[in-house]
Amino acid sequence: MKAMLLRRQGEPLEVAERPTPTPGEGELLLQVDACAVCRTDLHVVDGELTEPKLPLVLGHQIVGRVVQAAAVFSEGERIGVPWLGWTCGVCVYCTSGRENLCDRALFTGYTRDGGYAEYAVADARYCFPIPDGYSASEAAPLLCAGLIGYRALRMAGDARRLGFFGFGSAAQILVQIARANGATVFAFTRDNDVEAQAFARTMGAAWAGGTGEAPPEPLDAAIVFAPAGELVVTALRHVVKGGTVVCAGIHMSDIPSFPYELLWGERTIRSVANLTRRDGNELFARLQTLRVETRRTEFPLEQANEALRVLRSGELTGTAVLIPGSTSDAGGGAAR
Ligand SMILES: [Zn+2]
Ligand SMILES: [Zn+2]
Repeated sequence: MKAMLLRRQGEPLEVAERPTPTPGEGELLLQVDACAVCRTDLHVVDGELTEPKLPLVLGHQIVGRVVQAAAVFSEGERIGVPWLGWTCGVCVYCTSGRENLCDRALFTGYTRDGGYAEYAVADARYCFPIPDGYSASEAAPLLCAGLIGYRALRMAGDARRLGFFGFGSAAQILVQIARANGATVFAFTRDNDVEAQAFARTMGAAWAGGTGEAPPEPLDAAIVFAPAGELVVTALRHVVKGGTVVCAGIHMSDIPSFPYELLWGERTIRSVANLTRRDGNELFARLQTLRVETRRTEFPLEQANEALRVLRSGELTGTAVLIPGSTSDAGGGAAR
């Protein structure tokens, strides 16, 4: 099979021919139809996440068809493979509904091979059926941006006025769910990034502006998607007493020191780590009735490096999705 391989961190991915993986006990083999690109993939390539298996097939937002069945999934069924690839099942976290914190957890596209390839194997217990009515490309961003974003949204509590810092793959999904919950979303992008601000408004934000601007109303909670520590302080400045700032990324630059009075008033700063299967079941149940739209740019598998580049540079609006077997050599076909 064809795969995009990370041999060493800091180097571009390499197009490689690899043996089609063989599923082990409880694992299924799937043919990859789409694999969405996540900022975490950049953190792995750049070495900010320090313990990948190497060589590694990146990619943890996989949608494909079952080729070799396992557990509850039968051949031909369409499934999604998320970031959480395996947990131990016996530790204090696993046995208290917090498998996302398992010390021995394995992660798709990081400590297990992922979906930047024509085929992938996955432990069937961690896969999700994909709701009807979503194409593979539409569904792929739900597997991390959607799932971990959904967990972040839950951590924000019942905030009615919600700030999003960074408006990319996760925010474009979450703004729709938040609105359906009755919340109002205020989107912060890089200052003067009028394109991202227009995109945020298109997707349902009531207001969009730069991080240097104040929102028209104070916020009950904020979710920081961008990996910039200073935004945590900015978010805290706009959050009312009792409000929460949720840090949704796996890596972030250092958070600068700030006056205690910004935290005073029972404000909370917290992170969100990974996902549990419960998060996935809840989100996919919700998506049976709530139709979520995403703006995507599709790339052939072989152009994974280009997809990573446009995500890194900020040129990308929405989500990059790799489509194995597609041949557009122009690259970057809009998919919405
Ligand atoms: Zn565990
Ligand atoms: Zn991710």
